[in-house]
Amino acid sequence: MERFEAIRDSDFACLRSCEGLSKTEIPSLDDVDVRWCLRFLRAIRDTAFATIGEDGLPSVRVIDVMATDGERLYFLSPRGKAFHEDVMRERFVAIVGQTPDYRTCRLRGQVERIPEGLQHEFVDAFFELNPGMEVVYPDDARYICDVFCIENGEGEYFDLGQKPIFREDFELGGGLAGKTGTFFIGDDCIECGICQRDCPEGCIAPGSPFVIDQKHCIRCGICQEVCPADAVRKRREKKAV
Ligand code: SF4
Ligand code: SF4
Repeated sequence: MERFEAIRDSDFACLRSCEGLSKTEIPSLDDVDVRWCLRFLRAIRDTAFATIGEDGLPSVRVIDVMATDGERLYFLSPRGKAFHEDVMRERFVAIVGQTPDYRTCRLRGQVERIPEGLQHEFVDAFFELNPGMEVVYPDDARYICDVFCIENGEGEYFDLGQKPIFREDFELGGGLAGKTGTFFIGDDCIECGICQRDCPEGCIAPGSPFVIDQKHCIRCGICQEVCPADAVRKRREKKAV
């Protein structure tokens, strides 16, 4: 509660300070961090949100990213929507946004509903930052919307328009106790070089064992399929937080 009160008490200055990133802005790898990625998703704004429905099946919808304070991503949903039901029940979403030049940011994380006593003030702040919302929800109709944020999660930014591709993982808040999904080469590597030869991104270097440069890996799995020693595995363990 206190952290959201502090944002309200600062007149939402942290939200405004994260505005203004252009989605055409191409960062250097050094600039890509969690704050930059949240601002990038906000700049894309119309992003795909995936949830699990009551029937256990996935659903995906385009939802506006309303704001970020650099530590959290905010969105809202009218209480009558199935999306709202999914979020309230599962408390988990996965998001992806992509620019026309194939730069993509993904985030999956736990969802928190902003405390009841602050809901209207956050809705007002988001309508100020997103004036088009007034057309859809004029006057007090805006308060049918509930405000949510994601403050613990993990994601990645990648740029498929570059050769080799450009990738950076990031963690939001305390991260997630999930799978990272990266490929790595174990000690049973016999150093035959087949994976290096077949890797479409040229991101495997010789060594003992061979090594995958994660920043340029597109996670296609070719190295795992071609390895004669079953030395390439997908990392399941969560990295330390
Ligand atoms: S998963 Fe694909 S891109 Fe990544 S190292 Fe293996 S072959 Fe290369
Ligand atoms: S294909 Fe397998 S055994 Fe050969 S270098 Fe790559 S990881 Fe090592």
